[in-house]
Amino acid sequence: TACNKSEKPAAPETSAVSDKDKEIEAKVDALIAKMSPEEKAGQMTQVNLNKILYTGNGSGYDNNYGIIDPALLDTAIVKYKVGSILNAINRAYSQDQWISIITQIQDKATKTGQNIPVLYGIDAIHGVTFTLNSTLFPHNIGTAASWNPAVEAAGAEVTALEARACGLRWNFDPVLDLGRNPLWPRFPETFGEDPYLVEQMGVAAISKYEEAGLGSPKAVASCMKHFIGYSASRTGRDRTPSFIPEIELREYYLPQFQAAVKAGASTIMINSGEINGVPVHANKYLLTDVLRGELGFKGLIVTDWEDINRLHERHNISPTMRDAVKTAILAGIDMSMTPNDYEFTKHLISLIKDGEIPMAHIDASVKRILTLKMKLGLFENPVVEKEAIANFGKPEYAEKALFAARQTITLLKNDKNTLPLKKEIKIVVAGPNANNVPSLHGCWSYTWQGADASAKLSSKGDKNFINGVTFGDSILPLFPKSTLTIKQALEAKIGAGKVVCQSVENYEDPKNYSLPSLAGADAIVLCLGENSYAESPGSIRDLTLDARQIALAQAAIKTGKPVILVLVEGRPRVISAFVDGVPAVVDAFWPGSQGANAIADVLFGDYNPGGKLPFSYPKHTGDFIMYDHKWTEANVETTPGGFVDEGYMPQWPFGHGLSYTTFEYSDAKISTDTLIGDAKLKVSVTVKNTGTVDGEEVVQLYTRDMFASVVPNSKRLRAFERVAIKAGESKTVSFEISRADLSFVKEEQTATTHKFTRVTEEGAFKVMIGGSSNFELEAAPFPWMTFPYRTYKG
Ligand code: BGC
Repeated sequence: TACNKSEKPAAPETSAVSDKDKEIEAKVDALIAKMSPEEKAGQMTQVNLNKILYTGNGSGYDNNYGIIDPALLDTAIVKYKVGSILNAINRAYSQDQWISIITQIQDKATKTGQNIPVLYGIDAIHGVTFTLNSTLFPHNIGTAASWNPAVEAAGAEVTALEARACGLRWNFDPVLDLGRNPLWPRFPETFGEDPYLVEQMGVAAISKYEEAGLGSPKAVASCMKHFIGYSASRTGRDRTPSFIPEIELREYYLPQFQAAVKAGASTIMINSGEINGVPVHANKYLLTDVLRGELGFKGLIVTDWEDINRLHERHNISPTMRDAVKTAILAGIDMSMTPNDYEFTKHLISLIKDGEIPMAHIDASVKRILTLKMKLGLFENPVVEKEAIANFGKPEYAEKALFAARQTITLLKNDKNTLPLKKEIKIVVAGPNANNVPSLHGCWSYTWQGADASAKLSSKGDKNFINGVTFGDSILPLFPKSTLTIKQALEAKIGAGKVVCQSVENYEDPKNYSLPSLAGADAIVLCLGENSYAESPGSIRDLTLDARQIALAQAAIKTGKPVILVLVEGRPRVISAFVDGVPAVVDAFWPGSQGANAIADVLFGDYNPGGKLPFSYPKHTGDFIMYDHKWTEANVETTPGGFVDEGYMPQWPFGHGLSYTTFEYSDAKISTDTLIGDAKLKVSVTVKNTGTVDGEEVVQLYTRDMFASVVPNSKRLRAFERVAIKAGESKTVSFEISRADLSFVKEEQTATTHKFTRVTEEGAFKVMIGGSSNFELEAAPFPWMTFPYRTYKG
C-alpha cells in the first residue's frame, strides 16, 4: 500500500521590493489620499470604446461613424471618471487612427480631476487584432501544436511591439483555459488538453509580454484568463454552467494559473460562468482565498464582459444590481468590464458612501489599478512613446509569423509518402478554404468574429470600418500585403498554370461545393474545415464536419486521384466518414497571416512539418476521452463476444504528428532505480534522424503512477522538447523529473472538514519517452521507450 507524504502548498511569491516600486507606491498612496469616492469608483470602471463613439445619425451609419463623440467622451471621462477603456468589437483601425483615439482619450483624462491617464485594454490574442495591416500569428491551438514555447514567444514579442506602437498597453492574453471539449467555441483559443502544455505556452507568452519591464516600449501588461474552469461547461456551449469537483479543479485547472502568477502576470480576467452553482465573479473563496491567498497573486482582477450585471440578470444570485456590485467587489473584483450605462459606477459610489464596502477594500483595488498605470509609464507618456511608434509593420514580423505557422502545421497522415508533392505536377485545389483568407486568420482578426464572418453584415448595409474602408468595398485592405490564400500560395510555389481552383466557394455559399475540371490533374488538394467564429456564435452541437464538405471529400475520393486533405480549423471536426479514403492529412489549425505560405511550403516539401497534436483528435462526436484517462488498459475487455470498451480510441492520439523523415530512439538512460526525496531523476535518450531530409521531432516524456490512493492517470505529460536533427545525425535529449512531477491532488475528508493537498506517494512508477502519447495506436514502427518501473521514496 502506498504511504502518504503530504506536501505543503507552495508559499506565495515574495519578491523583493525595488526602489522604483517603493517610489511608485508612495506616489499612488498620495494620489489615493486625494481621491473622492466618485474618482475611485471611476477608476474601477472599464467601458467599451463604443460607449464614446459617434454611433450614426439614427438612420444607419454615416461618415462620422466610428470616430469619438466629444459629448460621450465627456460623459465617460468627466462625469463618470472612468479609469479604463477597451477594444473595438466590430471595427479595425489603422495605427494612426489608434494613436488619434488614444490621444483624444488621454487629452481629456489627463486634464480632468486628478489627471489620471486611462488604461486601454485590448484582445490582441494572436497579433494586434482590431488593427489594419497588423501581423497575425497562429491561434493558440496551433501554437500549442508546435510544442515549442519559442513559437508562442515570437508571437507575443511582435504583438507587444505592434500593440504598444498603437498606444495599447494592456493585452487580454494569454488564455489558460484547458481545451478538453472541442464543442466549446473557444477551443481554438486554448493550448489544448494538457495542463502542462498549457502552462508552458502560457508562461512563454507572459514572460515575453512583460520581459522588458512594463515601462518599456516593447512590453504590454498581460492578462491570464479566464480564471477558472471556463472551458468545462457541461453542455460545451459558451458561458453555460460547469460542475467541477474541487479535486479536479486543482488537478487540471489551477496549475497553469499558479505557474502564470509565478511568471509575473500583471492582471487576470475572471470566468463568466458558474462552477457548482456559484458564479466565479461572486466566489470569494476562489478569487480571494485561492487566487490571492494561496497563489499569492498581487495584480489586478478584471471581470469579463458585463459579468457583474449578470450576477443579477443571468445567474440570478443577486436580487438587485446594487447587490451584484457589492457581491462581486467583496468577492475580490478590482475592475468591472463594460457595466451597462454606468450602473456599476453609480452603485459602487453609493455603496462606498453608505459604508457597505469598506474604504480600505476600495483603496486596495484602486491601488492595484494605479500601480499598474504607473508601472506602464502612462503618467509620463500617456499615448505612445516615440521609440514605440516605429515598431509597427516591420518586414521581419512576417518572417516570424511564417516561422510560427510552419512550426504549427501537423502532418496527421501520410500513407505511402503521398506528401511532399513534386513541383512538376498539376493540382486541383478545392473546398471552402481554398481561396479564403479570413478562415486562415480565425476569430479575433480585425473584428471579434473574424473579418469574413462580419462581412456578412455588409449585405445589411453596415459599415464597420472608418475612413473609406468598408466591408461593402472590400475586406482586402485589412490584410498585410503579403497575405495569400492557399490557392495563391500554391500558385506562387509551382506556377499559376499548374493550379486549378474554383474560387467562389465559401462557407456562406448556399450551393453544393464542387470539384473543378480534373483534366490533367495529378492530385487534389482539398481545403476543408471551419470558418472563423468566437464565443457563443461559435457554439455547435455536432462536431462532425458539415454534410456538404463530407460530400465534396467523398466526390474527390471517387475520382481515384490522390486526395491531400488540408484542414483549416479551430477545433478537430470529426472526419471519420471519409478519412480512410484520403492518403494524406495536414492540420493547419488557424495559422494566421502567413498560413497559406506555410501550408504550401509543407505540401511541396520546402518545410518538413514537425507539429504534434495538442489534443486527442476525436473519431466520433461525443468521444471526448483524453490521453490521460483514468482507467487502465487492463479494463479493456477484448474477449470475443464479451463487453468491449474501446478505451482511448481517438482518430489520432494526443502528441501525434508525422514528419517527412523518420526518427529512431536509442540509448535510453535513467539515473537511478529509486528516486529519493527531493533528488532529481535524470532521463536521457538519443534520437536519430534515420531518413534523408532534415527534420524536427518533439520528444515527449510521460510518467504513470502504478498504484496510488487516488486513481492514477494512465499517463501524464511531464516534459517535452522539440529538437531539430539533420538527416543522418543524432541528438541526445535529457530531462529531469522531480518529486513534484509525480504528485497529484488528494482530497481528505472528515465529518467536518475538506482538505486538498498535493502529494507524492511512495511506490512504483513508469517513465515513458516517445514521439506521441500513445504508441499502441501509432502505425509501427513507432519510436517509444518504456523503462522498467522506478520507485519513489520520500
Ligand atoms: C471575452 C474575453 C475578452 C472580452 C473583451 C469577452 O466576451 O470572454 O475573453 O477579453 O470579451 O473583449
